Amino acid sequence: MLADYAVRVEHSRGRRHPEPAHPYRDDFQRDRDRIIHARAFRRLEAKTQVFTRRYSDHFRNRLTHTIEVAQISRTIAAQLGLNVDLVETLALVHDIGHPPFGHAGEKALDQAMREHGLLFDHNLHALRIVEDFELRYAAFRGLNLTFEVREGIIKHSRDYPPEKFPELAEYLLDERPPLEAQLIDLTDEIAYNTADLDDGYEAHLLSLDGIRAGVPIFERFYAEAERQYPAAPGKLKFNEALKRMLDRLVTDLIRNTQARTAAHGIRTLEDVRNCKERVAAFSPEAERERRQAKEFLCNNLYFSPVLEPEKQDAERVIGDLFAHWIRRPSDLPPSYRDQAKDQPLARIVCDYIAGMTDNFIFEQHERFCGRT
Ligand code: MG
Repeated sequence: MLADYAVRVEHSRGRRHPEPAHPYRDDFQRDRDRIIHARAFRRLEAKTQVFTRRYSDHFRNRLTHTIEVAQISRTIAAQLGLNVDLVETLALVHDIGHPPFGHAGEKALDQAMREHGLLFDHNLHALRIVEDFELRYAAFRGLNLTFEVREGIIKHSRDYPPEKFPELAEYLLDERPPLEAQLIDLTDEIAYNTADLDDGYEAHLLSLDGIRAGVPIFERFYAEAERQYPAAPGKLKFNEALKRMLDRLVTDLIRNTQARTAAHGIRTLEDVRNCKERVAAFSPEAERERRQAKEFLCNNLYFSPVLEPEKQDAERVIGDLFAHWIRRPSDLPPSYRDQAKDQPLARIVCDYIAGMTDNFIFEQHERFCGRT
């Protein structure tokens, strides 16, 4: 049962290249399937989420993180009466534009680009992947996704000022995205704030006492689990607490978004688009809990001195290779050399690097820049 403010696939603004309808899959379902079958999607498996070197085979990588975001997003979307197929599609594609080495890689690539007066932005890169780089169809370049999926790729996590990004004008930058897209940024946060506590703890970079002292929402549920299962092994109490924390954030997001929809008098999709602010949000209390968890992770995991050497490696590998290909474009694969005829070389080098997995970029570094 779709809410009146949900995106309806039959009202989609459609694809760049019109295609005949499929007999039993609608357009958003087909877009989801196109993303799952894309090469860039498969490469997420070998891209860092938080830990560049593989501490363990059961830690998250960008693909398993993406699957977790899709699961959480589907649950919330169904409760809110949103278009679950569109939400799932947006969740599956939300990190497809990330370069190797997680945020360190993103920063290094952006820095290298700024020296050429350009920038790297993973949402814009994701759009280039689905519009141009994926070659699967004889009739057109890219995946020919519907407007709503492309709009969601651009607008799910941030607002792009129309005057600075005239090339994105078709994506209605002065309007809010549909709730289906608004959700993704928040479910992404729920997924990684909980998962990174888990992986950080398993990696022995975070201690149970540290998490309990620094993450009040976790502590509340840990104390509850301890009262309920005093004899259970520590890790199971930890899992109980984490599961309840995730459930608390999901439930709050559903309820608070419903309340905000009513408070803003939102009835239709146009109301969502014209609302002065995004409607999907946590309650102030859950928002505070979310922020505390994120700050704890920033201070104790993401910027931990233990991970510093990995980050420095990432910056060095990306910086070296970027400089190498700018100096010697003849070392680029032929398809990229060709593109450099009508686009800035820095953009082409950036595209090439951004598409790489962690493994492949290390191989390239060894080949062109000596031992890694
Ligand atoms: Mg993500």
